[in-house]
Amino acid sequence: MALDLTKKEKTLVLIKPDGLQRSLVGEIIHRYERTGLKLVALKMVVPQPETVEKHYNVDPQWRLKNGTKTIDAYKAKGKTPPTTDPIEMSGMTLKKLIKYISSGPVIAMIWQGMHAVGVVRKITGSTEPLTSDVGTIRGDLTIDSYEISDIDGRSVRNLIHASGSPEEAEAEIKLWFSPEEILSYRLIQDEILYDVNLDGILE
Ligand code: ATP
Ligand code: MG
Repeated sequence: MALDLTKKEKTLVLIKPDGLQRSLVGEIIHRYERTGLKLVALKMVVPQPETVEKHYNVDPQWRLKNGTKTIDAYKAKGKTPPTTDPIEMSGMTLKKLIKYISSGPVIAMIWQGMHAVGVVRKITGSTEPLTSDVGTIRGDLTIDSYEISDIDGRSVRNLIHASGSPEEAEAEIKLWFSPEEILSYRLIQDEILYDVNLDGILE
């Protein structure tokens, strides 16, 4: 039972307004699709600012984690952060994020399959495009940095949101989708990815 749940792990992906404005929707979906993960929900919405605020407060640890990461990024570059309090730091980021994500249409999707959260995070890359690995969506398809976003007083534009853990995904999915919008169906490829006995292939 536990194993079956792992094989059906779900994750929420948002293509943020910059992804849509850059005409990267097809390219981004293609990168997730070819992993073997299954698309089980998809829609286009202009998010309400309240939805974005709720989204980033789904994980009670997000404020601390994001603030710490931002402060560490300043220090790694030999710069002084505007504050050393992670909660205050992430409060500043959240304000900018609300403006960014609610500025235009986004694509909301749910991808399902084994290790869905980890697979999607790996392909998406780390938060700051300048330092995201080559081969990842954020590393290959855009060019933003903390340095420039700070100068401009805006959020880092990094194309994607992807859930950080299965628990986070569950809460985020509830916020963005109603149960009827999430489809349950079989793909032909599920057999080669998940079946234990490959005894139905040869004629
Ligand atoms: P996401 O949650 O979007 O998948 P992430 O998990 O890589 O990204 P978080 O720490 O959760 O990063 O931050 C959420 C989003 O806030 C980032 O994707 C980015 O758009 C923006 N952001 C994060 N830190 C900063 C920062 N220091 N300055 C500007 N924008 C930031
Ligand atoms: Mg995150």
